[in-house]
Amino acid sequence: MTSIALAATLFGPEDLRMVERPLDPLASGMVRIRFGAGGICGSDMHYYRHARTGDFVVTSPLVLGHEIAGEVIEIGSSAAGVKIGDRVAVNPSRWCGHCKPCLEGRANLCENIFFMGSASKTPHMQGGFASHFDAIPAQCVKIPDHVTYQAAALAEPLAVCLHAVARAGDVKGKRAVLFGAGPIGLLTMLAARRAGIAEVTVVDIAAAPLAFATRLGANHVVDISAGDNALKAAQPFDVAFEVSGTAAGLASAIAAVRRGGVVVQVGNLPGGQIPVPANAVMAKEIDLKGSFRFGAEFMTAVELIADGSVDVLALVTAERPLSVAPDAVRLALDRSQSVKVVLTA
Ligand SMILES: [Zn+2]
Ligand SMILES: [Zn+2]
Repeated sequence: MTSIALAATLFGPEDLRMVERPLDPLASGMVRIRFGAGGICGSDMHYYRHARTGDFVVTSPLVLGHEIAGEVIEIGSSAAGVKIGDRVAVNPSRWCGHCKPCLEGRANLCENIFFMGSASKTPHMQGGFASHFDAIPAQCVKIPDHVTYQAAALAEPLAVCLHAVARAGDVKGKRAVLFGAGPIGLLTMLAARRAGIAEVTVVDIAAAPLAFATRLGANHVVDISAGDNALKAAQPFDVAFEVSGTAAGLASAIAAVRRGGVVVQVGNLPGGQIPVPANAVMAKEIDLKGSFRFGAEFMTAVELIADGSVDVLALVTAERPLSVAPDAVRLALDRSQSVKVVLTA
């Protein structure tokens, strides 16, 4: 029996430490998981830098991490569907199944959601960057032997991107522009390709991520730090994915789509009010859609990784052990050298 976990815990801005956390005896209906791998997400980095992401503010110590995979090592009473030794991708969401969004098939909007490593509620929901953590069997998706924990951990961001593409509607044969060449941007590009998109232009303010986007198959890349002439020349697009989480990105997305185009907001924008050219949403009849986390796409993501359809490991630029998670987060923040940093056991 494991009674202590070592967890990457955020105490305030830039104050992330590995600390021991006592584990309660395993509750009924829960399973205990030994950490296998964890992807460092943009939201983990926002939490690290500012102790907040968007409107979610850290007010008490928060264990980060929601892109995780590991091994089931203990099973609580009446927890069915998994067995000890199962290697699993862990869905960070626990949905209630009975609120209105859940009943409408939009579980990502569940009013009673538990989402690992998030300060969206108080008390905060603790994350999976911990040597051991607990989950319910419904969160655990078994992975085949040939799938590494590193790849399985990236089912979560891939699910986010599958959901974003689904929100765009039928993208077959369309031209898309994507703002933000981070991991979510790049996985959205791969997901859009699978959905039959004809052409993807990737826009960013940094050269290194754009070079990475080109290697991953972007048709065109635009470095907007040098001005937006190249972007304007390529306009209009049918669909824009705003993944940078910036007001400038959303303004550019609204400007870049054609009349009757679609803009999908995937990035986590700053909290509060931000200036955007909203009148164009009316005048061009733009469908401006939010995309938040994912629902059934988590299962699809695991399948696409397992059958080799999406090579999520192509995004991984570094692996570091969980024990040095604070250093790994700082490495991930350096966009000149990092795309995706993955923690390992
Ligand atoms: Zn994430
Ligand atoms: Zn619900």
